[in-house]
Amino acid sequence: MIILKTGRELSVMKEACRISAGALKLIGSAVEPGVTTAELDRLAEKYILSEGAKPNFKNYNGFPATACISINNEVIHGIPSHKRVIKAGDIVSVDLGALFEGYHGDNAATFAAGDISPEAKRLMDVTKESLYEGIKMARHGGRIGDISHAVQSYVEAKGYSVVRQFVGHGIGTSLHEAPEVPNFGNPGRGVRLVSGMTLAIEPMINMGKSGVRTLADNWTVVTLDNSLSAHFEHTVAITPDGPQILTIAD
Ligand code: MG
Repeated sequence: MIILKTGRELSVMKEACRISAGALKLIGSAVEPGVTTAELDRLAEKYILSEGAKPNFKNYNGFPATACISINNEVIHGIPSHKRVIKAGDIVSVDLGALFEGYHGDNAATFAAGDISPEAKRLMDVTKESLYEGIKMARHGGRIGDISHAVQSYVEAKGYSVVRQFVGHGIGTSLHEAPEVPNFGNPGRGVRLVSGMTLAIEPMINMGKSGVRTLADNWTVVTLDNSLSAHFEHTVAITPDGPQILTIAD
């Protein structure tokens, strides 16, 4: 069931999303060679708690941390660790969210550690741009497939591929609600978009082929061909005035 949010609910969600975005921004500013992924995770957790919210990924289906931190060929769901030291040239995808007064925020971004290759930079740029292409289509009266197609066509025209096994999602009082928001599909198809819907739109884009697999830790998803992967996500509300990005930091 798709749950539409009232204006009052959106204002609470906006706060959850502001905190989520603040935590992501904080991690982004701390990504550098030599830091461990556990240190980054701790920063985000402290920030979210200090804002009176809770890290909503922690203990979600047993996930042990605040942030998913996925490096290079890791696509999503990397588990922060004291043993995992970030190196110069890594690209670091961070996905996290906050629960505030019963409502969830969710966002992700890929950050560069030190100097990265021009190829890695281009992958990050195209993935971020594809997110905004998708967001533009999150309009009352459209269809989910409009968002999906906007992301897919943008990315594939640049020679990259879209991960298909994982998709975006509705979000609200649950971290994952209906509808699914795939990053591939056909315009004019799928669920009708209406004002009051809140969606986590999140392209996961591989430099090589689209295939992925999950490692033996049962969480970390990596590219099958070991190519680099990037991930950007915003929580977005569909409003009568068009799409509104909720995950904006102060
Ligand atoms: Mg998400």
